[in-house]
Amino acid sequence: MILSFQIPLVKEFINSYVVFKRKRVFEMGQVLDAVCQCGYQSSVVMGAGRSNFREVCKFPHHCMNCHEAISIDIFKEARLCPKCNSSDVHSYEAKTKRVRYKLLEKLNDSALQKLGMHRRDDEHHSWYGNSKNHTILRGKHFCPKCEKNSLSFITSMMFD
Ligand SMILES: [Zn+2]
Ligand SMILES: [Zn+2]
Repeated sequence: MILSFQIPLVKEFINSYVVFKRKRVFEMGQVLDAVCQCGYQSSVVMGAGRSNFREVCKFPHHCMNCHEAISIDIFKEARLCPKCNSSDVHSYEAKTKRVRYKLLEKLNDSALQKLGMHRRDDEHHSWYGNSKNHTILRGKHFCPKCEKNSLSFITSMMFD
C-alpha cells in the first residue's frame, strides 16, 4: 500500500532531476550584433543550437588579417578565420574571472581587475561549454576596422 503511494512521487523526483540535468548542459545560443562608433557592423554567434551543442561551440573573435569580427568553433583545435583562413585570430573572451565572494565585490573596478576578476553585472553573456564558462563582458571591445576599443556587443537573437 505505502509503496504504491510512493511510486508517483519517485517518478516525479526523477523527472525533475532529468530536467535539471538538461538545463545544466544546454543553454540557448545567441546572435550578437557587433557595432562600432566608426560605422563598422557585423553579426557573430555565441554558443550552439540544441541539435549540435555537444559538437560545436561558437565564440566571437576578430581577425587581424581581414579585419572582421568572426565566429570560431572553440571545440576545434585549429582556430582559423572562416573568411580568410588566417590563424591571426583573437578571442573576445573575458580574461578575468567572475568574483566568487560578496566581500570582493566591494572593491573598485581597477582593484578587481588587478586580481583578474570582474563582477557578475559586468557580463554581457556567459556560455557554458567544454566544462568551462566562456564570457563576453559588457562595455567596449577592440574593433577590427578602426582598431580602437569602441566596439559594443548587443544581443539580437536567441536560438536553440
Ligand atoms: Zn580573416
Ligand atoms: Zn571601429
